[in-house]
Amino acid sequence: MRSAEVIIVGGGPAGSTAAWRLRRAGIDTLLLDKETFPRLKLCAGWITPEVVTDLELDIPAYPHRFLTFKRLQMNFRGVRLPVPCVQHSIRRYEFDAWLLQRAGVETVHHQVREIRREDDGFVLDGEFRCHYLIGAGGTSCPVYRGLFRDTLPRERALQTVTLELEFEHDWQDPDCHLWFFDRGLPGYSWYVPKARGWLNVGVGGMAHRLKQRGEDIWLHWHHLGNRLQQRFGLHVPQEPTGYSYYVRGPVRGARIGNAFLTGDAAGLATRDMCEGIGPAVRSGLRAAEAILGRSEYRIDDVTGASLGGGFTSRWIDWAFTRGIAANV
Ligand SMILES: Cc1cc2nc3c(=O)[nH]c(=O)nc-3n(C[C@H](O)[C@H](O)[C@H](O)COP(=O)(O)OP(=O)(O)OC[C@H]3O[C@@H](n4cnc5c(N)ncnc54)[C@H](O)[C@@H]3O)c2cc1C
Repeated sequence: MRSAEVIIVGGGPAGSTAAWRLRRAGIDTLLLDKETFPRLKLCAGWITPEVVTDLELDIPAYPHRFLTFKRLQMNFRGVRLPVPCVQHSIRRYEFDAWLLQRAGVETVHHQVREIRREDDGFVLDGEFRCHYLIGAGGTSCPVYRGLFRDTLPRERALQTVTLELEFEHDWQDPDCHLWFFDRGLPGYSWYVPKARGWLNVGVGGMAHRLKQRGEDIWLHWHHLGNRLQQRFGLHVPQEPTGYSYYVRGPVRGARIGNAFLTGDAAGLATRDMCEGIGPAVRSGLRAAEAILGRSEYRIDDVTGASLGGGFTSRWIDWAFTRGIAANV
Protein backbone atom coordinates (compact mmCIF):
# COMPACT_ATOMS: atom_id res chain seq x y z
CA MET A 1 0.00 0.00 0.00
CA ARG A 2 1.27 3.50 -0.87
CA SER A 3 1.28 5.83 2.16
CA ALA A 4 1.62 9.60 2.31
CA GLU A 5 1.06 12.18 5.02
CA VAL A 6 -1.44 13.99 2.78
CA ILE A 7 -3.45 12.68 -0.15
CA ILE A 8 -5.25 15.13 -2.43
CA VAL A 9 -8.03 13.82 -4.64
CA GLY A 10 -8.21 15.98 -7.78
CA GLY A 11 -5.62 18.03 -9.61
CA GLY A 12 -7.70 21.09 -10.64
CA PRO A 13 -6.91 24.54 -9.21
CA ALA A 14 -7.99 23.57 -5.66
CA GLY A 15 -5.91 20.40 -5.52
CA SER A 16 -2.82 21.69 -7.30
CA THR A 17 -2.76 24.83 -5.13
CA ALA A 18 -2.95 22.81 -1.91
CA ALA A 19 -0.23 20.51 -3.29
CA TRP A 20 2.00 23.45 -4.22
CA ARG A 21 1.72 24.94 -0.73
CA LEU A 22 2.29 21.63 1.07
CA ARG A 23 5.26 20.65 -1.06
CA ARG A 24 6.90 24.02 -0.36
CA ALA A 25 6.57 23.23 3.35
CA GLY A 26 8.23 19.84 2.78
CA ILE A 27 5.11 17.72 3.49
CA ASP A 28 4.92 14.26 1.94
CA THR A 29 1.98 14.74 -0.45
CA LEU A 30 0.45 12.49 -3.08
CA LEU A 31 -2.14 13.65 -5.62
CA LEU A 32 -4.60 11.32 -7.36
CA ASP A 33 -6.55 12.28 -10.47
CA LYS A 34 -8.72 10.17 -12.74
CA GLU A 35 -7.43 12.06 -15.77
CA THR A 36 -3.94 12.45 -17.17
CA PHE A 37 -2.84 16.04 -17.67
CA PRO A 38 -3.18 18.10 -19.74
CA ARG A 39 -6.88 17.29 -19.61
CA LEU A 40 -9.96 18.98 -20.98
CA LYS A 41 -11.81 21.00 -18.33
CA LEU A 42 -14.97 22.82 -19.29
CA CYS A 43 -14.48 26.39 -18.16
CA ALA A 44 -14.45 29.85 -19.73
CA GLY A 45 -11.04 30.37 -18.13
CA TRP A 46 -11.65 33.87 -16.83
CA ILE A 47 -9.38 34.59 -13.85
CA THR A 48 -9.28 37.56 -11.52
CA PRO A 49 -6.30 39.56 -10.20
CA GLU A 50 -6.88 37.81 -6.83
CA VAL A 51 -6.13 34.46 -8.46
CA VAL A 52 -2.92 35.88 -9.91
CA THR A 53 -1.93 37.12 -6.44
CA ASP A 54 -2.89 33.93 -4.58
CA LEU A 55 -0.94 31.80 -7.04
CA GLU A 56 2.01 34.23 -7.01
CA LEU A 57 1.82 34.14 -10.82
CA ASP A 58 4.59 35.94 -12.61
CA ILE A 59 2.57 36.80 -15.71
CA PRO A 60 5.49 37.47 -18.13
CA ALA A 61 7.03 34.12 -17.13
CA TYR A 62 3.79 32.14 -17.60
CA PRO A 63 4.53 30.05 -20.71
CA HIS A 64 1.00 29.63 -22.12
CA ARG A 65 -1.88 31.74 -23.39
CA PHE A 66 -2.69 34.65 -21.10
CA LEU A 67 -4.83 37.60 -22.15
CA THR A 68 -5.73 40.67 -20.12
CA PHE A 69 -9.09 42.40 -20.63
CA LYS A 70 -9.28 46.13 -20.21
CA ARG A 71 -13.04 46.12 -20.55
CA LEU A 72 -15.96 43.82 -19.82
CA GLN A 73 -18.94 44.29 -22.10
CA MET A 74 -21.83 43.54 -19.75
CA ASN A 75 -25.24 43.27 -21.41
CA PHE A 76 -28.44 43.31 -19.36
CA ARG A 77 -31.46 42.43 -21.48
CA GLY A 78 -30.49 44.63 -24.41
CA VAL A 79 -28.65 47.35 -22.48
CA ARG A 80 -24.88 47.31 -23.02
CA LEU A 81 -22.68 48.46 -20.16
CA PRO A 82 -18.93 48.64 -20.90
CA VAL A 83 -17.09 48.23 -17.59
CA PRO A 84 -13.38 49.16 -17.39
CA CYS A 85 -11.46 46.41 -15.60
CA VAL A 86 -8.30 44.38 -15.30
CA GLN A 87 -9.28 40.74 -15.66
CA HIS A 88 -7.60 37.85 -17.46
CA SER A 89 -8.22 34.72 -19.50
CA ILE A 90 -6.26 31.49 -19.70
CA ARG A 91 -6.96 28.10 -21.29
CA ARG A 92 -7.70 25.56 -18.58
CA TYR A 93 -6.16 22.83 -20.73
CA GLU A 94 -2.81 24.59 -20.35
CA PHE A 95 -3.23 26.32 -17.01
CA ASP A 96 -4.20 23.29 -14.92
CA ALA A 97 -1.38 21.15 -16.31
CA TRP A 98 1.10 23.94 -15.67
CA LEU A 99 -0.11 24.46 -12.08
CA LEU A 100 0.10 20.77 -11.36
CA GLN A 101 3.58 20.50 -12.78
CA ARG A 102 4.65 23.54 -10.78
CA ALA A 103 3.27 21.97 -7.60
CA GLY A 104 5.96 19.32 -7.98
CA VAL A 105 4.21 16.53 -6.05
CA GLU A 106 3.91 12.92 -7.10
CA THR A 107 0.74 12.49 -9.15
CA VAL A 108 -0.91 9.13 -9.74
CA HIS A 109 -3.46 8.47 -12.45
CA HIS A 110 -6.22 6.83 -10.40
CA GLN A 111 -9.98 7.17 -10.09
CA VAL A 112 -10.89 7.10 -6.40
CA ARG A 113 -14.04 5.10 -5.67
CA GLU A 114 -14.07 4.13 -2.02
CA ILE A 115 -12.81 5.89 1.11
CA ARG A 116 -12.54 4.21 4.49
CA ARG A 117 -11.57 5.76 7.80
CA GLU A 118 -8.83 3.85 9.57
CA ASP A 119 -7.31 4.77 12.96
CA ASP A 120 -6.55 8.48 12.62
CA GLY A 121 -6.37 8.43 8.83
CA PHE A 122 -7.96 7.16 5.62
CA VAL A 123 -7.58 4.29 3.18
CA LEU A 124 -8.56 4.87 -0.45
CA ASP A 125 -9.59 1.90 -2.60
CA GLY A 126 -7.47 -0.36 -0.40
CA GLU A 127 -4.39 1.01 -2.21
CA PHE A 128 -3.51 4.38 -0.65
CA ARG A 129 -3.25 5.42 3.00
CA CYS A 130 -2.90 8.92 4.46
CA HIS A 131 -3.16 10.89 7.65
CA TYR A 132 -4.79 13.95 6.03
CA LEU A 133 -7.18 13.88 3.08
CA ILE A 134 -8.11 16.80 0.82
CA GLY A 135 -11.19 16.48 -1.38
CA ALA A 136 -10.58 18.55 -4.52
CA GLY A 137 -12.42 16.38 -7.01
CA GLY A 138 -14.96 18.92 -8.22
CA THR A 139 -18.72 18.30 -8.31
CA SER A 140 -18.35 14.50 -8.36
CA CYS A 141 -15.64 14.41 -5.68
CA PRO A 142 -15.54 11.00 -3.98
CA VAL A 143 -14.42 12.62 -0.71
CA TYR A 144 -17.65 14.63 -0.73
CA ARG A 145 -19.70 11.53 -1.52
CA GLY A 146 -17.93 9.34 1.01
CA LEU A 147 -17.52 11.65 4.00
CA PHE A 148 -19.43 14.93 3.66
CA ARG A 149 -22.72 14.32 1.89
CA ASP A 150 -24.71 14.17 5.15
CA THR A 151 -23.07 17.11 6.91
CA LEU A 152 -22.89 19.41 3.87
CA PRO A 153 -25.95 18.63 1.74
CA ARG A 154 -26.07 20.41 -1.62
CA GLU A 155 -29.00 22.67 -2.33
CA ARG A 156 -30.66 21.88 -5.62
CA ALA A 157 -31.57 25.54 -6.03
CA LEU A 158 -27.85 26.34 -6.27
CA GLN A 159 -27.02 23.91 -9.08
CA THR A 160 -25.88 25.38 -12.40
CA VAL A 161 -25.98 23.73 -15.77
CA THR A 162 -23.66 24.82 -18.58
CA LEU A 163 -22.76 24.25 -22.23
CA GLU A 164 -19.49 25.43 -23.64
CA LEU A 165 -17.08 25.25 -26.54
CA GLU A 166 -13.47 26.35 -26.92
CA PHE A 167 -11.97 26.50 -30.39
CA GLU A 168 -9.33 28.15 -32.54
CA HIS A 169 -10.70 31.37 -33.94
CA ASP A 170 -9.04 34.49 -35.24
CA TRP A 171 -11.20 36.86 -33.17
CA GLN A 172 -11.12 40.58 -33.87
CA ASP A 173 -12.89 41.89 -30.75
CA PRO A 174 -10.55 41.54 -27.72
CA ASP A 175 -13.19 42.34 -25.08
CA CYS A 176 -14.98 39.81 -22.93
CA HIS A 177 -18.76 39.93 -23.60
CA LEU A 178 -21.39 38.74 -21.14
CA TRP A 179 -25.14 38.61 -21.76
CA PHE A 180 -27.25 38.34 -18.61
CA PHE A 181 -30.85 37.07 -18.55
CA ASP A 182 -30.99 36.84 -22.35
CA ARG A 183 -34.47 35.63 -23.35
CA GLY A 184 -35.23 34.81 -19.73
CA LEU A 185 -32.08 32.78 -19.07
CA PRO A 186 -31.59 32.52 -15.27
CA GLY A 187 -27.84 33.00 -15.82
CA TYR A 188 -25.64 34.40 -18.55
CA SER A 189 -23.85 33.56 -21.78
CA TRP A 190 -20.35 34.58 -22.72
CA TYR A 191 -17.71 35.27 -25.37
CA VAL A 192 -14.22 35.03 -23.86
CA PRO A 193 -11.21 35.50 -26.18
CA LYS A 194 -7.95 33.74 -25.38
CA ALA A 195 -4.49 34.82 -26.46
CA ARG A 196 -3.18 33.76 -29.86
CA GLY A 197 -6.40 32.95 -31.67
CA TRP A 198 -8.60 30.90 -29.34
CA LEU A 199 -12.12 31.64 -28.23
CA ASN A 200 -14.45 30.26 -25.57
CA VAL A 201 -18.22 30.67 -25.84
CA GLY A 202 -20.86 29.24 -23.57
CA VAL A 203 -24.02 29.54 -21.59
CA GLY A 204 -24.86 28.74 -17.97
CA GLY A 205 -27.98 28.98 -15.84
CA MET A 206 -29.62 27.71 -12.68
CA ALA A 207 -30.94 24.22 -13.35
CA HIS A 208 -34.09 24.35 -11.21
CA ARG A 209 -35.15 27.73 -12.62
CA LEU A 210 -34.81 26.42 -16.17
CA LYS A 211 -36.88 23.42 -15.19
CA GLN A 212 -39.58 25.67 -13.74
CA ARG A 213 -39.67 27.49 -17.08
CA GLY A 214 -40.00 24.20 -18.96
CA GLU A 215 -36.76 24.94 -20.81
CA ASP A 216 -33.40 23.31 -21.08
CA ILE A 217 -29.99 24.85 -21.53
CA TRP A 218 -29.81 23.79 -25.19
CA LEU A 219 -32.49 26.33 -26.06
CA HIS A 220 -30.24 29.07 -24.70
CA TRP A 221 -27.21 27.63 -26.47
CA HIS A 222 -29.07 28.07 -29.74
CA HIS A 223 -29.99 31.66 -28.78
CA LEU A 224 -26.32 32.30 -28.12
CA GLY A 225 -25.40 30.83 -31.52
CA ASN A 226 -27.76 33.31 -33.19
CA ARG A 227 -26.39 36.18 -31.16
CA LEU A 228 -22.78 35.36 -32.05
CA GLN A 229 -23.73 35.10 -35.70
CA GLN A 230 -25.44 38.51 -35.65
CA ARG A 231 -22.92 40.31 -33.44
CA PHE A 232 -19.61 38.91 -34.74
CA GLY A 233 -20.54 37.05 -37.93
CA LEU A 234 -19.31 33.98 -36.03
CA HIS A 235 -20.49 30.49 -36.86
CA VAL A 236 -19.89 28.13 -33.92
CA PRO A 237 -18.06 25.17 -35.49
CA GLN A 238 -19.37 22.20 -33.49
CA GLU A 239 -21.64 21.03 -30.67
CA PRO A 240 -20.71 22.04 -27.12
CA THR A 241 -20.27 19.84 -24.07
CA GLY A 242 -21.86 20.31 -20.66
CA TYR A 243 -21.05 20.26 -16.97
CA SER A 244 -22.88 21.03 -13.77
CA TYR A 245 -21.65 22.55 -10.53
CA TYR A 246 -22.93 24.31 -7.42
CA VAL A 247 -22.66 27.92 -6.41
CA ARG A 248 -22.04 28.96 -2.89
CA GLY A 249 -24.37 27.76 -0.15
CA PRO A 250 -23.64 27.40 3.56
CA VAL A 251 -20.08 26.09 3.94
CA ARG A 252 -19.93 25.16 7.60
CA GLY A 253 -18.63 21.64 8.05
CA ALA A 254 -16.12 21.52 5.19
CA ARG A 255 -13.65 19.91 7.59
CA ILE A 256 -14.30 16.69 9.48
CA GLY A 257 -11.30 15.66 11.55
CA ASN A 258 -8.41 15.32 9.12
CA ALA A 259 -10.56 15.49 5.98
CA PHE A 260 -11.05 18.76 4.07
CA LEU A 261 -13.28 19.78 1.19
CA THR A 262 -12.14 22.45 -1.27
CA GLY A 263 -13.26 24.17 -4.48
CA ASP A 264 -16.25 22.81 -6.38
CA ALA A 265 -16.34 19.77 -4.08
CA ALA A 266 -17.42 22.19 -1.34
CA GLY A 267 -19.66 24.20 -3.71
CA LEU A 268 -17.73 27.45 -3.48
CA ALA A 269 -18.34 29.22 -6.81
CA THR A 270 -19.62 32.76 -6.41
CA ARG A 271 -23.36 33.45 -6.44
CA ASP A 272 -23.26 36.43 -8.81
CA MET A 273 -20.83 35.27 -11.53
CA CYS A 274 -20.47 31.51 -10.84
CA GLU A 275 -16.72 32.10 -10.65
CA GLY A 276 -15.05 29.03 -9.17
CA ILE A 277 -11.32 29.21 -9.90
CA GLY A 278 -10.60 31.91 -7.31
CA PRO A 279 -12.52 30.18 -4.49
CA ALA A 280 -10.90 26.85 -5.45
CA VAL A 281 -7.41 28.33 -5.23
CA ARG A 282 -8.11 30.16 -1.97
CA SER A 283 -9.67 27.10 -0.31
CA GLY A 284 -6.76 24.92 -1.46
CA LEU A 285 -4.37 27.34 0.24
CA ARG A 286 -6.51 27.38 3.39
CA ALA A 287 -6.61 23.57 3.59
CA ALA A 288 -2.83 23.43 3.28
CA GLU A 289 -2.39 26.12 5.95
CA ALA A 290 -4.67 24.20 8.30
CA ILE A 291 -2.68 20.99 7.80
CA LEU A 292 0.49 22.94 8.49
CA GLY A 293 -1.11 24.08 11.75
CA ARG A 294 -0.92 27.75 10.77
CA SER A 295 -4.66 28.45 10.95
CA GLU A 296 -8.12 26.96 11.31
CA TYR A 297 -9.73 25.71 8.11
CA ARG A 298 -11.97 28.70 7.41
CA ILE A 299 -13.74 29.09 4.09
CA ASP A 300 -16.79 31.05 5.16
CA ASP A 301 -14.85 34.22 4.33
CA VAL A 302 -13.66 32.96 0.91
CA THR A 303 -15.53 35.34 -1.32
CA GLY A 304 -18.96 34.23 -2.44
CA ALA A 305 -19.45 37.29 -4.69
CA SER A 306 -17.27 38.32 -7.65
CA LEU A 307 -18.80 41.80 -7.95
CA GLY A 308 -18.05 42.93 -4.42
CA GLY A 309 -21.10 41.67 -2.56
CA GLY A 310 -23.05 44.96 -2.78
CA PHE A 311 -26.39 45.71 -4.40
CA THR A 312 -25.44 44.45 -7.91
CA SER A 313 -24.12 41.14 -6.56
CA ARG A 314 -27.22 40.58 -4.47
CA TRP A 315 -29.57 41.55 -7.25
CA ILE A 316 -27.91 39.18 -9.76
CA ASP A 317 -27.91 36.39 -7.18
CA TRP A 318 -31.61 36.95 -6.57
CA ALA A 319 -32.38 37.11 -10.27
CA PHE A 320 -30.46 33.85 -10.95
CA THR A 321 -32.00 31.83 -8.17
CA ARG A 322 -35.48 33.27 -7.72
CA GLY A 323 -36.06 36.39 -9.67
CA ILE A 324 -37.15 38.24 -12.70
CA ALA A 325 -36.06 35.89 -15.41
CA ALA A 326 -39.24 33.80 -15.17
CA ASN A 327 -41.32 36.72 -16.37
CA VAL A 328 -39.18 37.85 -19.28
C1 LIG B 1 -18.74 25.90 -18.53
C2 LIG B 1 -18.07 26.45 -17.30
C3 LIG B 1 -17.46 27.70 -17.32
C4 LIG B 1 -16.80 28.20 -16.19
N1 LIG B 1 -16.15 29.39 -16.30
C5 LIG B 1 -15.45 29.86 -15.24
C6 LIG B 1 -14.65 31.01 -15.37
O1 LIG B 1 -14.54 31.60 -16.44
N2 LIG B 1 -13.97 31.45 -14.28
C7 LIG B 1 -14.06 30.81 -13.07
O2 LIG B 1 -13.44 31.26 -12.10
N3 LIG B 1 -14.79 29.67 -12.94
C8 LIG B 1 -15.46 29.16 -13.98
N4 LIG B 1 -16.13 27.98 -13.88
C9 LIG B 1 -16.06 27.24 -12.61
C10 LIG B 1 -14.69 26.56 -12.49
O3 LIG B 1 -14.41 25.83 -13.66
C11 LIG B 1 -14.67 25.60 -11.29
O4 LIG B 1 -15.25 26.24 -10.19
C12 LIG B 1 -13.24 25.18 -10.95
O5 LIG B 1 -12.72 24.38 -11.97
C13 LIG B 1 -13.21 24.40 -9.63
O6 LIG B 1 -11.91 23.89 -9.43
P1 LIG B 1 -11.68 22.55 -8.58
O7 LIG B 1 -10.22 22.39 -8.47
O8 LIG B 1 -12.51 22.60 -7.37
O9 LIG B 1 -12.31 21.38 -9.46
P2 LIG B 1 -11.97 20.83 -11.00
O10 LIG B 1 -11.29 21.92 -11.71
O11 LIG B 1 -13.26 20.34 -11.46
O12 LIG B 1 -10.95 19.68 -10.72
C14 LIG B 1 -11.38 18.47 -10.16
C15 LIG B 1 -10.40 17.37 -10.55
O13 LIG B 1 -10.77 16.19 -9.82
C16 LIG B 1 -10.63 15.07 -10.65
N5 LIG B 1 -11.50 14.01 -10.15
C17 LIG B 1 -12.86 14.02 -10.11
N6 LIG B 1 -13.31 12.87 -9.60
C18 LIG B 1 -12.24 12.12 -9.29
C19 LIG B 1 -12.06 10.81 -8.73
N7 LIG B 1 -13.11 10.06 -8.38
N8 LIG B 1 -10.80 10.36 -8.55
C20 LIG B 1 -9.73 11.12 -8.90
N9 LIG B 1 -9.84 12.35 -9.46
C21 LIG B 1 -11.07 12.83 -9.63
C22 LIG B 1 -11.02 15.58 -12.03
O14 LIG B 1 -10.46 14.78 -13.06
C23 LIG B 1 -10.43 17.00 -12.01
O15 LIG B 1 -9.14 17.05 -12.58
C24 LIG B 1 -16.79 27.46 -14.99
C25 LIG B 1 -17.40 26.20 -14.95
C26 LIG B 1 -18.02 25.70 -16.09
C27 LIG B 1 -18.64 24.34 -16.04
